[in-house]
Amino acid sequence: MPVTIGSATMRILVVEDEPVLRDGIVDLLRASGYEVEAVGDGAAAAKLGVDEPFDMVLLDLMLPKLDGLEVCRRLKTARPALPVIMLTARGAEEDKVRGLRSGADDYVTKPFGVKELLARVQALARRCQIGQAEPERVEVDGCILDLGRCEVLRDGKATVLTAREVGILRWLHRHRARAVSRAELLEHVWCVPGTLETRTVDMAVANLRQKIERDLAQPRIVVSVKGIGYAWGVKDA
Ligand code: CA
Repeated sequence: MPVTIGSATMRILVVEDEPVLRDGIVDLLRASGYEVEAVGDGAAAAKLGVDEPFDMVLLDLMLPKLDGLEVCRRLKTARPALPVIMLTARGAEEDKVRGLRSGADDYVTKPFGVKELLARVQALARRCQIGQAEPERVEVDGCILDLGRCEVLRDGKATVLTAREVGILRWLHRHRARAVSRAELLEHVWCVPGTLETRTVDMAVANLRQKIERDLAQPRIVVSVKGIGYAWGVKDA
């Protein structure tokens, strides 16, 4: 059974330079229902972890090219809400402290058992609310977004939302701790490569805003983030 977030399978990035251990972790997570990608050096991890919308990262501390602490700092700078579990080799107290200071959410000491690793992943996912059921109705800025029924209610008036508009809202709401790029929306809402024409996204967002925003000059639900794309504009929603 896949571990899902909404309709998507939870995606984990595994960063480990020892091939046998890396393959073992990948097999374990896949067998447990996660979608997994793995890389063997820090530079690749920092790039992939920032570029791709992973839901969690398992990160070895001692890595070629860029060490785990620096990778963690870069990931957390770009995506503060991304949960990171450090794999510390030595079990040394100072490694754990340094790992947590660099922004890691948890750590596992090598050698670790299969059950311990899975339990840590599940516990952190719960703590970060990954995989929890998504709301069908969201009240924001004086209107009700009824995502289940594909409509928005404002001032007693109902307007129909398209499936794609609901997809945009769900994706932004799910990742409301961070900004979302146009490429990411293309990949996950349109299901086409993010390298395609991103103006498509801007046009869809413009139409969506006409339906949901109170003031088009100052959008409050779907806000623009300069240089990146869009974000869910309402905090703690
Ligand atoms: Ca290592």
